[in-house]
Amino acid sequence: MKAKYKKINRRVADRDFKYYIFDWDDNILHMPTKIYLEKKTQNGQWVEQTVSTALFSLIRNDTKNYRPPQGSWDLAFRDFQDYKNEKESGFLKDTRAALTRVLSGAEKPGPSFMSLKETLVEGRLFAIVTARGHESATIRQAVQMFIDMALTPAENETMLANLRGYRAAFDNLSEFGSDVDELEYYLSLNRYHAVTNPRFKKWLNSVVGDEEKERQEQSKQFAIRDFVEHIIRLMSLSDKGLGHRSISVGFSDDDAANVRAVEEYIRRELSRHFPSVKFVIYDTSDKALPNGRKVVVSGQLGFDF
Ligand SMILES: [Mg+2]
Repeated sequence: MKAKYKKINRRVADRDFKYYIFDWDDNILHMPTKIYLEKKTQNGQWVEQTVSTALFSLIRNDTKNYRPPQGSWDLAFRDFQDYKNEKESGFLKDTRAALTRVLSGAEKPGPSFMSLKETLVEGRLFAIVTARGHESATIRQAVQMFIDMALTPAENETMLANLRGYRAAFDNLSEFGSDVDELEYYLSLNRYHAVTNPRFKKWLNSVVGDEEKERQEQSKQFAIRDFVEHIIRLMSLSDKGLGHRSISVGFSDDDAANVRAVEEYIRRELSRHFPSVKFVIYDTSDKALPNGRKVVVSGQLGFDF
């Protein structure tokens, strides 16, 4: 039997360098994961109440009316991390449930759902940066699940043709691995940061100075810087046709406070470190705007390696 002809999209070599960083909850999917809190009633009593991530982003500073159980945020967010000996991470169960609801039309996808899908089909590099505490490998498995469930067979074919195109253009490959191997390779190039994961925190503490350690809330910004450094490193390793094409990095998040903090960080730090990169922020907090509010943070300059 003749081996199946594998398509290679060599035109990817001429594409602009466009990368994305995605928040997960309520940006890609509305997850069923709940946060355990206590809410003050009218007569001043505290009662247990679970809230969604979407509601939490609105009430998280309302300490008068909401508090974590026994004063412990770990207890409040107990479903946002992985546990030893569990059969499957709650993150994967919830991702499957959320995807099933979206694909059956029972629920709207998150505002950046289509952007993630396009990014995957185009085979572009991306990062998932979430405030969750799961293992990086778990987030990657969720992306694999997204590919398996949300991409049509035709989209899957297009993705693989693009991935082979990048391998041919940037890694000088003329023979390719199996589809599974090529997808694995692509997924290994991306970043999956859950910034409240103990391992992530340890890593953060090992690479930042004391001054920055005190600003733990900036771990999301740090994960973003890591991704930008990662793609610049990958590109500088490749000798192929970098030319003076533009590099842009998009960041999408539905939490207005996060968006403000990241925008500030990009203006203050990243645009200075990477003056040639165009940063585009998608604030997806406003449900009335289908693709979010778009802010371009820094201008485009020439880029030389
Ligand atoms: Mg979110």
